[in-house]
Amino acid sequence: MITPHIIRSKRKTLSLSINENADLVVRAPHRASYDEIQKFISEKSTWINNKQRLIKAQLEDNENQHSRSQCLYLGSLYPLKIDNSNVEPISFNGHMFTITNFNRERISLHLKSWYKKRFIEVALPRLSYFSDKYKLKVNQVKVKEQKTLWGSCSSKNNINLNYLLIMAPMKVIDYVIVHELVHTIHKNHSAKFWQKVETIMPNYKDARYWLKENGYKLRRL
Ligand SMILES: [Zn+2]
Repeated sequence: MITPHIIRSKRKTLSLSINENADLVVRAPHRASYDEIQKFISEKSTWINNKQRLIKAQLEDNENQHSRSQCLYLGSLYPLKIDNSNVEPISFNGHMFTITNFNRERISLHLKSWYKKRFIEVALPRLSYFSDKYKLKVNQVKVKEQKTLWGSCSSKNNINLNYLLIMAPMKVIDYVIVHELVHTIHKNHSAKFWQKVETIMPNYKDARYWLKENGYKLRRL
């Protein structure tokens, strides 16, 4: 026997539906007896079973989708596990990400704020390092999400860096930082600009290629 969730109202007839958790919901008039409702349910049992099987399969599929999803961090893919007992909305233990069960939109918001924090922690010291070592003076540095750019450098030597780069390997982050730092002395992509980039980072072309091939993955959140 199926235990239904019964909603009584002023309606005149009985109706059945299966909710998003695959539970049976019966809408019934106030006067309908429990036996009447059970009889109605047993008459429709085939429909109920089929519908419930379908919704349960979809629920399972959604769950798999979540447990299968992975997160990019510093060029490596890590599994993403949903765990509602997690205290933090998102955490990373070096092997996997754990995230509280949210809808897709909120997961992506939490991921973004986590990525931004890590970028500030991991990437900004690299900017200071290259800036000091090669005497490339920067005015202001801003870390933000940018739709099309990985980084930019203004005429006043203000540098913007796209924190989504934290998903890329370290050498790629270094390349974008070096690229923007060199713009503080060369405001174009002339031969001299590329020569300077190459002096600082002899294998910069690998990083540039990685970004060209994989850049879209960093925007897929
Ligand atoms: Zn440039």
